[in-house]
Amino acid sequence: MVQPYKHEPFTDFSIEENRQAYLKALETVEGYLGQDYDLVIGGEKITTEDKIVSYNPANTAQVIGRVSKANKDLAEKAMQAAVEAFKTWKKTKPEVRADVLFKAATMIRRRKDEFSALLTKEAGKSWREADVEVAEGIDFLEYYGRQMLSLKNGVPVNSRPDEYNRYDYIPLGVGIIISPWNFPFAIMAGTTVAAIVSGNTVLLKPASTTPIVAAKFVEVMEVAGLPKGVLNFVPGNGSEVGDYLVDHKDTRFVSFTGSREVGLRIFERSSKLNEGQIWMKRLIAEMGGKDTIVVDSEADLELAAQSIMASSFGFSGQKCSACSRAVIVEDVYDQVLNRVVELTNQLTIGDPVDNSNYTGPVIDNNAFNKIMEYIEIGKQEGKLMAGGEGDNSKGYFIKPTIIADLDPKARIMQEEIFGPVVGFTKAKDFDEAIEIANNTEYGLTGAVITTNRAHMEQAREDFHVGNLYFNRGCTGAIVGYQPFGGFNMSGTDSKAGGPDYLLLHMQAKTTSEMY
Ligand code: NAD
Repeated sequence: MVQPYKHEPFTDFSIEENRQAYLKALETVEGYLGQDYDLVIGGEKITTEDKIVSYNPANTAQVIGRVSKANKDLAEKAMQAAVEAFKTWKKTKPEVRADVLFKAATMIRRRKDEFSALLTKEAGKSWREADVEVAEGIDFLEYYGRQMLSLKNGVPVNSRPDEYNRYDYIPLGVGIIISPWNFPFAIMAGTTVAAIVSGNTVLLKPASTTPIVAAKFVEVMEVAGLPKGVLNFVPGNGSEVGDYLVDHKDTRFVSFTGSREVGLRIFERSSKLNEGQIWMKRLIAEMGGKDTIVVDSEADLELAAQSIMASSFGFSGQKCSACSRAVIVEDVYDQVLNRVVELTNQLTIGDPVDNSNYTGPVIDNNAFNKIMEYIEIGKQEGKLMAGGEGDNSKGYFIKPTIIADLDPKARIMQEEIFGPVVGFTKAKDFDEAIEIANNTEYGLTGAVITTNRAHMEQAREDFHVGNLYFNRGCTGAIVGYQPFGGFNMSGTDSKAGGPDYLLLHMQAKTTSEMY
């Protein structure tokens, strides 16, 4: 019998044995840096001359690995492999499909530190952040496997005498999975296996800055028993391979996680009917955020400061859920701001292989330049209270930065920066704080720090975000506990890790028999 779902525990690195195990895992990863990885199409490994090179963002001289790069011809070949494999995979029993996920979860759990260490190297994640991400990836495998088992007999509908009605969920077809670099393991794996366990076949196009961890995951899925052609691995240029596959007549659905800009492009392109296409493509698009922590005047102010600091600067603010705006009721504004500045000035930044560093680099030079430009804008729009400096001589390091006294409509308060920058603004009372919290085009996460129950209820109704948290930070959703997804320009609110998620990858079929 399948055990009930429980989330994967996080590793306690204050225990010496765990610390040693992580150091050893870092050595294991060091041992395979610089290797080449193939495309996987219909189970066949394909090597191309053209490669995507993955670099360590903390030390850009270090190559993590090189993956072969798909072009349109190879993308087409992968599409045909997926179309073919769908014919049998859709008829494979849900139990068998779920078993592949359960086995993969176990295989990854056994190599948990190694996968985490690879994230430390490839994405610049601290031990803690990497460990949490690998746990999340395992959770997706365990959770979606169980969800499929609960859906395999459909849901009951009524039948009249002499009639037998059934309502079953069947898969959609070939899906294109397009994933971001900031959760290069958990989101990549979660979006892929949700589609697969539901009976679809997929083409996986990982982010070009972090393809190695995806290649390692694809290897695991093969060993776990996934038949050829179910998961095709096609790293490539977003604009070349991405557009080609999004437009393709045989694409049945697209599952995208990434920026607003690319998400909207996919939204538009996937809505166009192409020659020979006989369906309207389905789109899951989870996009950016501009997430706010509101602090009430009646609140635990130390909790407020700690929550703002951790949600803003964990993984250098490169989470769609990261706090990038703190809206503080004016009576407690100075106190909270000064405490966050104090906490921020204590943070250590550096190569995340060293676990004493709180946070590591940003992902690449484009991100570095963009964030530094925003810091300059911030200095014009508000008052620089901490950080403000960057150094890209070895890796892409930016000091955790606080800009205070901003107008709620300032660019720093409205645009997704996706780096270690948080803006502070003052509200005259709680009503105004919620108004400001809602004044962006996004609606992903938010948190309210208050001891006032009426204010909590007001926020529950009026603070328009997909994931709202009380008396804690706004990051760190857990699969099966806090299903994750946002409103408005944050996307289609698909709620990854939630009870409805697999249904987005399926369609319902009614059958009715007369006796
Ligand atoms: P991105 O949009 O630049 O890239 C995401 C993926 O899209 C990559 O694989 C990229 O290669 C691909 N892509 C680029 N152009 C394409 C095209 N024309 N057609 C198809 N695919 C294309 O995003 P990113 O920089 O990798 O990730 C950061 C963004 O992701 C942030 O905005 C962040 O908020 C968002 N994000 C959202 C969530 C969520 O659940 N809402 C989770 C993580 C990240």
